[in-house]
Amino acid sequence: MENHLFIYNTLSRKKEAFKPLNPPFVGLYVCGPTLYSDVHIGNCRTFTSFDIIYRYLLHLGYKVRYVRNITDVGHLEDEVAGVGEDRIGKQARLKKLEPMEIVQRYAFGFREVMSLLNLLPPSIEPTASGHIPEQIEMTQKIIEQGFAYVKEGNVYFDVEKFAKANNYGILSGRALDDQLNNTRELEGQEEKKGRLDFALWKKAKPEHLMRWNSPWGEGFPGWHIECSAMSQKYLGETFDIHGGGMDLIPTHHTNEIAQSMGCCGAAPVRYWVHTNMLTLNGQKMSRSLGNVFLPVELFTGMKLAADSPSATPSQAKLDGKHPLFEKAYNPMVVRFFMMQTHYASTLDFSNEALQAAEKGFFRLMESYKTLEKLQASATSSANIKKIEEDCYAAMNDDFNTSILLAHLFECARIINSANDKKEALTQTDIELLKKIYRHFIIDVLGLKREEESGKSAGALNSVMHLLLDIRNKAKENKDYATSDQIRDHLAKSGIQVKDSKEGASWSIN
Ligand code: AMP
Ligand code: ZN
Repeated sequence: MENHLFIYNTLSRKKEAFKPLNPPFVGLYVCGPTLYSDVHIGNCRTFTSFDIIYRYLLHLGYKVRYVRNITDVGHLEDEVAGVGEDRIGKQARLKKLEPMEIVQRYAFGFREVMSLLNLLPPSIEPTASGHIPEQIEMTQKIIEQGFAYVKEGNVYFDVEKFAKANNYGILSGRALDDQLNNTRELEGQEEKKGRLDFALWKKAKPEHLMRWNSPWGEGFPGWHIECSAMSQKYLGETFDIHGGGMDLIPTHHTNEIAQSMGCCGAAPVRYWVHTNMLTLNGQKMSRSLGNVFLPVELFTGMKLAADSPSATPSQAKLDGKHPLFEKAYNPMVVRFFMMQTHYASTLDFSNEALQAAEKGFFRLMESYKTLEKLQASATSSANIKKIEEDCYAAMNDDFNTSILLAHLFECARIINSANDKKEALTQTDIELLKKIYRHFIIDVLGLKREEESGKSAGALNSVMHLLLDIRNKAKENKDYATSDQIRDHLAKSGIQVKDSKEGASWSIN
C-alpha cells in the first residue's frame, strides 16, 4: 500500500516513513489503564491520541489489530522501584471487596468514558490476570536464556548481564552507568543482584490477595511482563507500533524491550510512539500528585447515577460539576480540546482553554450544517483539492491534528464566505468539501455530529443547576411549598431529585 505517512519513532529519535511488517496488516499495542480508580483526563488524552492514530491508519486502508490491555494485577504502588502494595489489592483491602470487584467497578466507568469521548473500542482488550500462563512461560524462557534468576520465590531480570550484550537504555537514551547512579538501593530488595534488576515474578506474602501457582511457588507477575507477553501473543514477536504516555519510557517500556529481547533475541517493536502529558498549571496530571480531574467532574451526559452500584465514590459526590469549572462540557468539546495540540507536546488544562475549545468546536460543526445547505455557483474561487492534499499532508506528518484543524477551519471560512455570497463554490467543490468533512472530522478526528444534543445536554445541566439552587434557597427560607413544587414538577417530567448530605442531585428516570 502506497502512502506517505511519517511517524516519530522514540527509538531512533526521528520521523521515519511508516512501513508495516506485513501490509495491509498493522499491529498496534497501547498500554491501557490500571483499574484501581477512575481514569482521569490525563489518561484520556493518551487514549484519545491513540484513537486518532488508529482511526487514521484505518482510514488509509490498513487492517489494524489494536490491542489495548487492562492492568488488573502486578502494578505496585512505587512503579519505578517496583515496590509497595499491589494498587488493586490495596483498594480491595481498604474497601473490603474482591480485587476483581474493584476492577469491574472501574472498568465500567472507563468504558463509559471511552465511549462518551467516541473512542473506537480496541480489537482486543486483554487483562493481565487472564494471561498468567503466558507470563509464566515467558519468564521461564528468559530464565533459560540466562537473563533472569530465581531468589526465594521471586524471579528477577538481570539488567547488568543483559546490558553486556544489549543496549538497555536504547529507548530512553540513558547510559547504564547514569541509570545505576541515579537509582536508589531499596530496603526489602536485598535478594536482587543489581539495583536495576526488576521482578518478572513476585512471591506473594501471606496477606497478598491475588496469587497464582508457578514453578517458583505462589505469587503474581511483575507489571512489565504482562505487556510483553500479551503483545507477543496477539501481535507476534515483532510488531509495528507500540504506544503509551512518555512517562512509561524509562522503566515500563525499557523493561518491555529487555524482556522480549531476553526471551527471543528480537526487538519487539518497530515504531515506539509516545504521547506527551496533560498538565495542570504546568505540572503533570497524576493520581499520585493529587491534581487529577475526572471525566465525571467535567462531562455532560455521564449515565452512571450516583446511587448506581457501579458508581465510584467520586461519582457519588460529583456529576459534571467541579468548583474550578464554571460548567460541564460536552465530551466532544474535551476531545476537540485535546486534538488542538500535537500529541507529542504538553497540553495544559484550564477553564479558559476549554471555553476556547468549545467555541472552536461549535464553529466547525456549524459550518458542517451550512455546508449541507450551500448553493452551488457556476464558477469557483477556491482550490479545495489543494486543501484536501494539505489535510493528508498534516496527518501524514506524524498525525499532526493541530495543523489538520487549521486546514479544516480554512474550509469553514470558505463555506461561511460562500454562504454569504462573498466566495463561489461549484457543485464539485461542495461535494469535495463534504468528503473532506466526512473523512477528517467524522472518521479520523472522531468528532460526533450530535452537537445539538451536546448543546441541549449542556443547557439542561445549567437549567438544573439553577433550579436546584432556587429550591435550596426556598428550603433555607422554609418555603416548602416552592421546594416541593419544583421537585414534584420535575418528577412529572421524568427527572428525579435526590437529597443527601452532599446536597441535591438529579437523574433522568
Ligand atoms: P496508568 O493507568 O497510570 O497506568 O496510565 C494509563 C496511561 O495514561 C499510560 O499510558 C500513561 O502514560 C498515561 N497517562 C498518565 N498520566 C497522564 C497525563 N497526565 N497525560 C497524558 N497521559 C497520561
Ligand atoms: Zn504496558
